[in-house]
Amino acid sequence: MSYIPNPNRYSEMQYRRCGKSGLKLPALSLGLWHNFGGVDVYENYRAILHLAFDEGITHFDLANNYGPPPGSAEENFGRLLQQDFKSHRDELIISTKAGYTMWDGPYGDWGSKKYLVSSLDQSLKRMNLDYVDIFYHHRPDPETPLEETMRALDLIVRQGKALYVGLSNYKTAEFERAANILYDLGTPCIIHQPKYSMFERWVEDGLLDALESKGVGCIPFSPLAQGLLTNKYLNGVPEDSRLAKPHGFLNEQYATPEKIEKVKQLNEIAEERNQTLAQMAIAWLLKDDRVTSVLVGASKPGQLADSLKALDNIFFEEYELKAIEDILAE
Ligand code: NDP
Repeated sequence: MSYIPNPNRYSEMQYRRCGKSGLKLPALSLGLWHNFGGVDVYENYRAILHLAFDEGITHFDLANNYGPPPGSAEENFGRLLQQDFKSHRDELIISTKAGYTMWDGPYGDWGSKKYLVSSLDQSLKRMNLDYVDIFYHHRPDPETPLEETMRALDLIVRQGKALYVGLSNYKTAEFERAANILYDLGTPCIIHQPKYSMFERWVEDGLLDALESKGVGCIPFSPLAQGLLTNKYLNGVPEDSRLAKPHGFLNEQYATPEKIEKVKQLNEIAEERNQTLAQMAIAWLLKDDRVTSVLVGASKPGQLADSLKALDNIFFEEYELKAIEDILAE
């Protein structure tokens, strides 16, 4: 069946400016790390993308290695772009990244100019695109000179293969150095993608302030701690969950009884707010206006629909924040 987007798709979504750039992003963005690969079901991920776009999600986040197998998320996304979103390219912000292992040999990993340029060329081919909107260096490379990596990002923008550049998984001091180099090159970093959730808060220890002072937006990944910060694991591990799947990076060691106990207590606060825990976890990030967009994943359209409702209430009373802090500090 052909896809006809919702004509009212821009009426509800909130769009936030990404740092001091000209780019606005939806408060919720969709990541394709899981659930869009070669092992996943076409009708399901197609329905997730349709729902996202129908609800005003304009930003889709990929990376060279998303799948499994690596590259298959970009291929699947590229196919659907052609099929369903071809006439909407100018309404979409598509990001991809390079920085983790993608192919064998010395040029398929980390941060050399050789790797970044080749990898983006491959990504563009897989997605059948002329350019991506945001290209990220996916993780810092301790061996390649930072100047080389940043010059590669600058080159890619000057070649028209990306409109903007971002950094991911950079700690505060290395982010500041990289952002200074990019600024001097004339291709400012506009966005940083760190892991940030109620369970993972290192960014509060300097990174968020650094981003604000440099006018760079923040897009937290794994805001639901890969599904832990939802009502999914309250009564055991469901068969269709990420934790139960053989691929991926979520395993029992993350879902300790102590953690699940915290999840149960957080869930009670969410219920008092008339939210699901997923909604509260997203709202908790969006309460800080240094956070431009929250980058969620979803394995079913219903999950995304649930997460979208977080935007109905991102306000927290002081006593709610304190109760959350008390649980997290236990
Ligand atoms: P989340 O923390 O949002 O976890 C998503 C998972 O949570 C889903 O697959 C699903 O689990 C579960 N879930 C989602 N919504 C709900 C809901 N409303 N109710 C119940 N369960 C729900 O994010 P991800 O870890 O998927 O990361 C999001 C994106 O961030 C990635 O797709 C990627 O784009 C980016 N990312 C970037 C990284 C980087 O290094 N830059 C690293 C990791 C991610 P289930 O599958 O079990 O149903």
